[in-house]
Amino acid sequence: MLEISIGLRNEIAASAAASPDAEVCGLLLGRGSRVERVVACRNVAATPARRFEIDPAALIAAHRAARGGGAAVIGHYHSHPTGTATPSPRDAADAPPDGSIWIIVAAGGLSAWRAVRDGALHGRFDPVPLVDAGCAAPGERPQGGSPVSSRYIIP
Ligand SMILES: [Zn+2]
Repeated sequence: MLEISIGLRNEIAASAAASPDAEVCGLLLGRGSRVERVVACRNVAATPARRFEIDPAALIAAHRAARGGGAAVIGHYHSHPTGTATPSPRDAADAPPDGSIWIIVAAGGLSAWRAVRDGALHGRFDPVPLVDAGCAAPGERPQGGSPVSSRYIIP
């Protein structure tokens, strides 16, 4: 399972809705199976309407921050502007079986998958149930919100 707050899910969905012609993408930062932050990244793919490629500079910066004690990069998300919220065969071909989380967002909603060897979908992805992490205990840091939203870069 993957814990992610409704607020963060809404941020991902809003960023996808604001980009009907190009796939949006970003990183999922967190610990274990809990997403603590999402960071929208530039899609640097040559054909962003059909593919995504996370800006390598953003990826390097996130890994560097993680080594410095920040949240780990546990996966990423991308949108399917004209498709469904499930990984495409092309996604499967591009995904190393490294156990990372893939969130796919489309008009129909949002779903999470883990890239594994011999996955149930396209031989690469196993579905991961989403659990609402929004019911944080009192005093716990709120999830999501405007500090992350302001980092969206819409190409
Ligand atoms: Zn895709």
